[in-house]
Amino acid sequence: MKKVVFHTIGCRLNQAETAVLVDRLKRVGYEAVEFGQPTDVLVLNTCSVTGEAEADCRYAIRRTLRRSPHAFVAVTGCYAQTGVQALRGIPGVDLILGNQYKMKLPDYLPSLSFQGKRSEPVLLHSRTIDREDFVQEGVGDYGTTRANLKIQDGCNFMCSFCLIPFARGRERSRCLDDVLREGYELVERGHRELVLTGVNIGRFANGGVGITELVQRLEEIPGLDRIRISSIEPTTIPEELLDLMGSSKKLCRFLHVPLQSGDDGILQAMNRRYTVREYTDWVERMVTRIPDLCVGTDLMVGFPGEGPQQFDNTFSVARDLPFAYFHIFSYSPRPGTAATRLEQRISPPIIKARNRRLAELSRTKRLGFYQRFVDRPVSVLFETKGPEDLWTGLTDNFIRVGVTAPRDLTNQICQANITGVMDGLAIGQLTAQPSHPAGKRTLPMLERP
Ligand code: SF4
Repeated sequence: MKKVVFHTIGCRLNQAETAVLVDRLKRVGYEAVEFGQPTDVLVLNTCSVTGEAEADCRYAIRRTLRRSPHAFVAVTGCYAQTGVQALRGIPGVDLILGNQYKMKLPDYLPSLSFQGKRSEPVLLHSRTIDREDFVQEGVGDYGTTRANLKIQDGCNFMCSFCLIPFARGRERSRCLDDVLREGYELVERGHRELVLTGVNIGRFANGGVGITELVQRLEEIPGLDRIRISSIEPTTIPEELLDLMGSSKKLCRFLHVPLQSGDDGILQAMNRRYTVREYTDWVERMVTRIPDLCVGTDLMVGFPGEGPQQFDNTFSVARDLPFAYFHIFSYSPRPGTAATRLEQRISPPIIKARNRRLAELSRTKRLGFYQRFVDRPVSVLFETKGPEDLWTGLTDNFIRVGVTAPRDLTNQICQANITGVMDGLAIGQLTAQPSHPAGKRTLPMLERP
């Protein structure tokens, strides 16, 4: 049996796509092994969001070839779409698949890798990417309780710092029946939480169904306990989705809504589609309508023109809004994007210092959010036993809870009382038996749409 290592760099969408590739290659006889283990094939699913992509690729290829000098190396993902020339110059690459061909990898890999390593990589790449709604064969292979479910790809928004519209093409949605098909199959495999994933998921639209109705259709899957919306653009959140989040038993009270900057001038230069005031109003309205909602955000530091005042504006908004956490990104110019033409670049040490200040603030905000739940009951989907013998898992509103337990809690939903808070972890005590037995469940025959 041929061995294959998958190494994924970048976003949740890349992880979702890798998981489907794992499943499909296993079905044609490959055995998936851990990165760093001897292998016959390396599949590198890359990212080009930061300038590190090339370094990441070189590292992964070097590490694999040191252990397995004859391993066939296939590179796909956003860097394979946008950085073909650089990839061609990296020793050891045998196959480059642009994003148009990414999910066809299982069709090409067996015969190409059979021919062994090559002096020149085979290139499967097109500048343009299909615009039509799509079907994605296969089911994601995850070793975790939560599974990602891809519903959408591409983006039309053209934020000036972002390469994604070039790397992944125009927005398009996955066909509704196909989303539901994979959703049912993931639940049959024992996943209790599905995380809806895409580039701009609020723009999902297929056959007259938008994001809210999609969630309602997924809620009908028997045995599915949670549906989580991953990052969603603020201008694309329908009112009905908020209503549903406030009343649904399955849709998690969780919204990750990228802000990027708390300064109107910078937002405009970024080509974002809202003002600080509009964003602030949305967040305040959301937390009023949905009790105990977890709101997270993305912030970017060091965008051209971000002087001390602009950064202070971001810091104040981040501090004052009821965020539970932020992800902080340091701006790096991506060739081909509009922002590369902007002047007033910010120096790396300043960017680093700003990143550090916001990271510190994010830790404080998370602690504050967790503290609100001390002495309150929560429902936790447990994942694994971590260090210090604590079983950890997440509440629907994204609080990581750790408990001690004398039994295996993997993939069980249990009630717990929060008793205290440490850095990044709420400590809890179990208060009730799990709602379902441990491990994979055999579900009754599901009626498929
Ligand atoms: S909304 Fe903006 S940042 Fe997000 S993927 Fe689209 S272009 Fe990139």
